[in-house]
Amino acid sequence: MHCPSCKTTHLIPSLLEHNLPVFSCNICQGSFIEILSYRMWVDHSAPAEKKTAGMLLAVDDSKHAMVCPHCAKIMSKYQISEHTPNKIDLCRNCGRFWLDAGEWRLLQELGLYLEIPSIFNEPWQKAIRKTVSKKLREEKLLTLFGVADYQKIKEFKDWVKIHPKRAQIMDYLNNLSRD
Ligand SMILES: [Zn+2]
Ligand SMILES: [Zn+2]
Repeated sequence: MHCPSCKTTHLIPSLLEHNLPVFSCNICQGSFIEILSYRMWVDHSAPAEKKTAGMLLAVDDSKHAMVCPHCAKIMSKYQISEHTPNKIDLCRNCGRFWLDAGEWRLLQELGLYLEIPSIFNEPWQKAIRKTVSKKLREEKLLTLFGVADYQKIKEFKDWVKIHPKRAQIMDYLNNLSRD
């Protein structure tokens, strides 16, 4: 099997953790993992205490589309969490996945290394997209109005949202230009 990321060399059997066999690349240091081996490790060998998130270090992520070294199908990308842009490549055909160098450590820092299969679920991905687009919207509004005014507008919005005369207030505001 060739490395799906740097494509320069063959993957060799190695251990990502004690009792977690993977195929890894000596050049780019990525790992190719069978979901079954991973599940066995989670169930029987993973350390009981979860590591907690420390300082998140930036980890390089391969941006190009990858082809599964096992079955030659195009792999799908799944963002790990809203706290990192890194994505895991999964072959939906054979269930094997690829971690770029450092992404295992990143999963540990995020406290997600025991929950990799959840990352491949649609609700997980949907929640990330929602948070990311909300953040982007907030940033845009902040740039548009500035911190102080945006704060005022938000307070006003919260106030008017539940006001019994909301319709009349909005009507009045919409017609401000006539004053
Ligand atoms: Zn490689
Ligand atoms: Zn595959």
